[in-house]
Order: sequence, then C-alpha cells, then structure tokens
Amino acid sequence: MDAARRGWGVEHRFEYQGRPGRVVFGAGRRAELGAEAERLGLRRVLVVTTPGRADLAAETAATLGDRLAGLHPHAVMHVPSDVAAHAVATARELGADGCVAVGGGSAVGLGKIVARDTGIPLLAVPTTYSGSEATPIWGMTTDGVKRTGHDPRVLPVTVVYDPELTLSMPVRLTAESGLNALAHAAETLYAPDVSPVTSLVAAGAARSLVTGLPKVLADPASVDARAEVMQGAWLAGWCLASATMSLHHKLCHTLGGTFDLPHAPTHANVLAHVLAFNLPAAPAADAALREALGTDDVPARVHALVAELGAARSLADLGLPADGVERVVELATADPYANPRPVTPEGVRAILAAAFTGASPVPHS
Ligand code: NAD
Repeated sequence: MDAARRGWGVEHRFEYQGRPGRVVFGAGRRAELGAEAERLGLRRVLVVTTPGRADLAAETAATLGDRLAGLHPHAVMHVPSDVAAHAVATARELGADGCVAVGGGSAVGLGKIVARDTGIPLLAVPTTYSGSEATPIWGMTTDGVKRTGHDPRVLPVTVVYDPELTLSMPVRLTAESGLNALAHAAETLYAPDVSPVTSLVAAGAARSLVTGLPKVLADPASVDARAEVMQGAWLAGWCLASATMSLHHKLCHTLGGTFDLPHAPTHANVLAHVLAFNLPAAPAADAALREALGTDDVPARVHALVAELGAARSLADLGLPADGVERVVELATADPYANPRPVTPEGVRAILAAAFTGASPVPHS
C-alpha cells in the first residue's frame, strides 16, 4: 500500500480479523470477578501474579469464594521457562479449570503459558497498561532467549479492567507504562495491515493516553484520570493484537532481549525518535497523531511528555552501554519488521544516538 494513504480510515482495500473476548470495565468492578468465573462455569480457579502484587491479587481472588483453587504469586518478567513449568504443574496438581492473571504484563504472560499448556481459559485483571491482556501473543524465555508466538488459547476470554487497581502505580511507572501503550497505537497508524477499524481505535487510544497521563500526573489519586489512561491502554492493547508492529517495536525487542533493558521505560524512551524517523514517510498516520495529540509536531510532543511525566530520559540511564549501539544497529537492520520507510543503518544509528543521550528527536526528511 502507498505509505501516504496509510492510516486514518482512508484505506480502500484491507483485511480485518475480529477476535472474541469480553471486557468488563469500571472502578470497583474487580468485585465482579467471581460472577465472571461463574458465568464461565469455572469451579477451580488458579490465580497467578507477581510477588509485588500478591496482596492485591489475594484481595481480588477472594471474590472467587470457594471457586478459588490457589494463589500462585511467582510470576517473573519475560516468563522464564522454569517459572512457567512450575505454574503449569501447579495448575495441573490443583485440577484448575480456569486461570486468572492479576497484575502487569509479567503476570498475564505467565497466565498465558498456563492457558496454552493446559487448555484452560484465562481471565485477566490488569494492573498496568502493558496491553498483553488484549493479545493472543505469548512469550517465554529459555536460556536467556525470549521466544514469542500467536495462539488463540492465550487470549483472555474475559478482562476485568478496574482503574482503582492502578492507583498504586507510582507516577513514573504510570508514565512509562502509558507511553508503552502509546507506542502500540502509534505504530498501528502506519502498519502494513492498517484498516479503518484499527486506525479509529489507534487514534482513540492515543487521545485517551495523551490527555489522561498529564491528569494522572496532576492528581495521581484521581480514579477518573486513571480510567481515561486505562481505557487508552485497553484500546492500545487491542491495536497490538490487530496490527503488525514496525521499527519501534523491533528496536525495543532488541534492546530488551540483547541488553536486558526494562520493557516499558525503553518503549517510553525510544518512541519520539522512531516517530521522527517514520512519520515523514507516513503522512496519514502523522495527521491522525497530530489531531489526537493536539500538536503540529508529534515527535517533539512525545519527547516533551517523557520529560513532563518523569519517565526515563535516555537509553544510557536505562543501562545501554555506549558500545551496544552498533550491535543494536546490526540486529535491527539484519531482519527488520515491516516499516513505512526503509530501515537503514544510518537511520537507526541516528535514532539510537538521540535516544542514547536523551537529546531532542532529530528531524528526518
Ligand atoms: P510488569 O508486569 O513486570 O510490572 C512492572 C512492575 O510494576 C512489577 O514490579 C510489578 O509488580 C509492578 N506493578 C504492577 N502493577 C502495579 C500497580 N498497579 N501498582 C504498583 N506496582 C505495580 O511489567 P509490564 O510493563 O506490565 O509488562 C511487561 C511484560 O509484559 C514484558 O515481559 C513484556 O514482554 C510483556 N508484554 C507482553 C505483551 C503480549 O502481547 N504478549 C504485550 C505487552 C507486554
């Protein structure tokens, strides 16, 4: 497709694949988890979470009543295969007929492997904006190498979004997780498989995230502001499941996989620089983002947001060694994802040079 026509509902030839899934959204609605399990006819539910969310997961799990088979607070970021095997064995030992993941992408990631390997349905109660709960994508790490795959069994059958669960997120985690979500929406707008539906959802996601995040910064205890961001995160997760991601995601996967940089802060840091590179080649996506973000300069606005919200300022701060830049250039250009403009070593080097120091995005014509 001509890049100039990508995005913003102007496609005249496209394919769109819908996915099943029930969403229950609203403050306090975690109390309905038991009713949702009942709706699905579940009798023995295993709840998985990360150690840091154990108390919150226990409180949420209590709504399952005697349907609760066990609480497994052992999820770890990027789903190490031994951690996954332990959870799958626990589900089998308990005779679980359903799994609930309470937490961020790490908890949901573990629940996905339980669902994949046991065939039981997964429900999710997200506490960050990772969007994993909206996708049929699993990930698992063996001997330091993360593999991912698509499997319809790992898509949660029900997601309960309760913005009250995000009140405990520190502002910095909120910002980085929210900007991670914005990256899903932004790359959807210039995806090779963009459709009128994905464009509309992506623009809505971007708008909710960019208007909601400063409100959270101003009043972290505002459930309304948290709800606005969470709604954006749901839509952005939907985008991640519905469109092919491009250079930004490739760079972040490389930085996370090869240098173990943290997931959401890396996304937050790199996004403005990739948009400066890609948007000149994707004018329809640029127009959609300008309107959604209320700005004439999308990369500059995203870069300013990173600073205003107190997210990580540079890849150097996140732990990328200076001599790692060339390795990322090699990896990102060797096997690039689909992208609206050719991924050249010079282009990637310029993106990384700016992201490494936290400099302003470099305009690329
Ligand atoms: P995470 O789940 O590891 O959470 C980050 C940290 O925040 C953890 O220490 C956690 O305990 C804490 N936390 C979570 N919720 C909190 C809350 N409400 N208040 C305070 N602290 C809270 O990180 P994440 O960014 O949510 O997820 C990252 C993982 O998800 C990565 O492994 C990534 O690859 C994966 N992911 C997968 C998909 C997919 O579609 N498969 C999509 C996005 C992310």
